Amino acid sequence: MTSKGLLERLNNGEHVLVAEGYMLEAERRGYLKIGAFAPEVVLDNPDVVRSMHREFVHAGTDVVEAFTYYGHRERLKLMGREEDLEKLNRTALGIAREVADETGILMAAGLCSTTIYEENKPEIDERIRAMFKEQVEWAVEEGADYIIAETINDYGEAKLALEAIQQYGKGLPAVITIVCYNPDKTLDDVPIAEACLKLEEAGAAVVGLNCGRGPRTMVPVIREIRKVCKGPIAALPVTFRTTEESRTWTSLKDPDTGKHAWPSNVSCVTCTRDDIRLFAEEAKNIGVNYVGLCCGNAPFFFREVAEVFGRKPGACKYSPDLSLSVLAGDSKDSYSKLREYAGTGKK
Ligand SMILES: [Zn+2]
Repeated sequence: MTSKGLLERLNNGEHVLVAEGYMLEAERRGYLKIGAFAPEVVLDNPDVVRSMHREFVHAGTDVVEAFTYYGHRERLKLMGREEDLEKLNRTALGIAREVADETGILMAAGLCSTTIYEENKPEIDERIRAMFKEQVEWAVEEGADYIIAETINDYGEAKLALEAIQQYGKGLPAVITIVCYNPDKTLDDVPIAEACLKLEEAGAAVVGLNCGRGPRTMVPVIREIRKVCKGPIAALPVTFRTTEESRTWTSLKDPDTGKHAWPSNVSCVTCTRDDIRLFAEEAKNIGVNYVGLCCGNAPFFFREVAEVFGRKPGACKYSPDLSLSVLAGDSKDSYSKLREYAGTGKK
């Protein structure tokens, strides 16, 4: 069992490190379809999900988030798998609980954007409430330690998610992270910092951003959130090199072809380990309490975050050590020609 809950850790002033990004990682491994973006792998190949969770624990995550991203009624209905909805959710939650218990860390359930929200449409609000309710109830029954609502586009939908967690979550804490696209406001045009403050005031345990932007363009918005929110805040960028011209990873272009890179070719604009380390250092300096990575995350990136926060997860045994490298390590005369030919910049 876990030694300390989410709120206890945050109230103690501890950081909570959270690996997200299972969708893209499952796709890279060949178990998820771009376009559908649904976590069918939970039912089709549960061992792959178990393994991804264990690898992120090995790399330093404090939380195993159940892989239910897009595992909601609307998405599964679109895919003709609506009858699998409950089984998928319970299986994903069960796998996450199992890995969290093996390693004594937290398990979080995950809600996400329903993709059907529209402003001022009470009948759609009702459908969304029902979707969140069923997922929250399964999360409680399967033993989640807290509930995340992530990658939410609209303030209005974030509010519905928070209300569902408060109403049906049996007191479990709610972490609400929204997406900031090109403008610094939600899709329903609430300035990001204001949206976070309102969610905090409405009772969310943690508020902030996930997905949408890479470190370089998310950090300035996080600074604004830190200025207005009094409680714990979250930052979980994608691991892509977004710029002032292309603030979102979905707008990035391949520097060679000039074509949009998302979704199939985003590897051409991926961050480096140094970019991720810099992000983690900035997040620490700003006073972000709940730090993680979203799409593009991989264990070698997450280990950088863990190390910045003074953690020593198992993966640190294999952190880079260039002194052991023939091409880049300590100089030996016999290597000099090889180094020159290889162009490593070392003599
Ligand atoms: Zn993401």
